[in-house]
Amino acid sequence: MKTIVVGGGASGLIAALKARENSEVIILEKNDKLGKKLLLTGNGHCNYWNKEIDITKYESDSLETLKSIITEDNINEVYKYLYSLGIYPREKDGYIYPYSNQAYSFREVLEQNILKKGIKVIYNVKVTDVRKENDKFIITYNDTETITCDKLIISAGSVSYSKTGSTGDLYPILENLGHKLNPLYPALTSLKCDADFTKIWSGIRTDAKVSIYVNDKLKKEEVGEVQLTDYGISGVCVFNLSSIASSHMDEKVKVVINFLPNITDFEDFLYQRSKDLPDATMEEMFESIFSYKLNDIFFHNAHINSKAYYKSLTTSEINNLKEVMTHLELNITGTGDFAKAQVCKGGISLMDINPFSMESKKVSNLFITGEILDVNGICGGYNLAFAFITGYIAGDHHA
Ligand SMILES: Cc1cc2nc3c(=O)[nH]c(=O)nc-3n(C[C@H](O)[C@H](O)[C@H](O)COP(=O)(O)OP(=O)(O)OC[C@H]3O[C@@H](n4cnc5c(N)ncnc54)[C@H](O)[C@@H]3O)c2cc1C
Repeated sequence: MKTIVVGGGASGLIAALKARENSEVIILEKNDKLGKKLLLTGNGHCNYWNKEIDITKYESDSLETLKSIITEDNINEVYKYLYSLGIYPREKDGYIYPYSNQAYSFREVLEQNILKKGIKVIYNVKVTDVRKENDKFIITYNDTETITCDKLIISAGSVSYSKTGSTGDLYPILENLGHKLNPLYPALTSLKCDADFTKIWSGIRTDAKVSIYVNDKLKKEEVGEVQLTDYGISGVCVFNLSSIASSHMDEKVKVVINFLPNITDFEDFLYQRSKDLPDATMEEMFESIFSYKLNDIFFHNAHINSKAYYKSLTTSEINNLKEVMTHLELNITGTGDFAKAQVCKGGISLMDINPFSMESKKVSNLFITGEILDVNGICGGYNLAFAFITGYIAGDHHA
């Protein structure tokens, strides 16, 4: 039996290794090397897994199907499988990395296994068409060449970070074979806003709670470090909200930032601070709490003289300060585009997939894995975990 895997990224590599246990395997890869996107993951450290994988960390058009993929058994089995290939883990706050802390070494381990197990890799081939005739797949690459196989695993990624090879080539091909393609949106990316002070706060990092609203309805909240940029906001907790923004950009999207997420009673906090620092101006009271640029923005927008003393503030000035420090509203005007989005929301419908084998319900012996599917996770290793788990299932059940 001959199996072809289209795409030598995270998912395709695991699918190929697992499939090799029962089949001759060939990987068709568009780039001149395997796992190009893997090298960029986790800022070059490769956050490939998480201690707390469950379906609440994902969005998909079929959470019901996802439930049968992200099972405890699959999570344990695939984690052990990666270990058996040679990946020695290191954990930090639930995030799991290779012990070396290097995406490069992670990729090397996978590549060495591919070579050792006699999997053939054909580089610099762009798959441009797939047909099925008499139980055989006929795959066209570079528009003119063809190759055939009995089983086909498609792990060609999405359209995010296209410089890594993920350019969505296989979406129309899978659509032609009868699969539904759900709309694509950038995810795990930054948010743009129309506030005039972003040029001033650019470069500041601070802890905050960020809440996202669509048409004034709260959709999701995240707490963590926020990076303030010259066009808006970024950082892990913003990334985790971005798919909601990108998929609702034709509606009214806003975020509300609470820069003091651990303070439950702002008025009391301010009063206590004024007691602790009776000689301090407002500026001095907040000097060690926020950067001076952020304080300037707060006092300016609250219409408070930064040199004023607490006892001279009116109730309405205190309310203004509370508003800008704990309830700063930003209208979201856009998100980072696909070139800067770590993953893609949307893709080939999970409803078209049998979750126990990753086989297509439309075409027998065709398996689809990884980010090309309509599944996206939050930051923390969940996207690579999904790519590995689905690759493993497809490779394991394709015999
Ligand atoms: C900057 C960045 C950082 C990230 N960090 C993390 C992280 O720390 N943790 C995490 O879990 N996730 C992270 N992700 C997301 C994660 O990398 C992806 O979800 C994952 O790589 C998807 O795996 P995949 O195999 O489905 O697709 P890909 O890794 O994109 O692999 C697809 C492969 O298919 C090939 N291909 C495409 N079209 C064709 C064609 N026509 N013919 C032949 N080959 C083709 C591509 O060249 C590519 O090699 C990050 C992503 C980015 C961009």
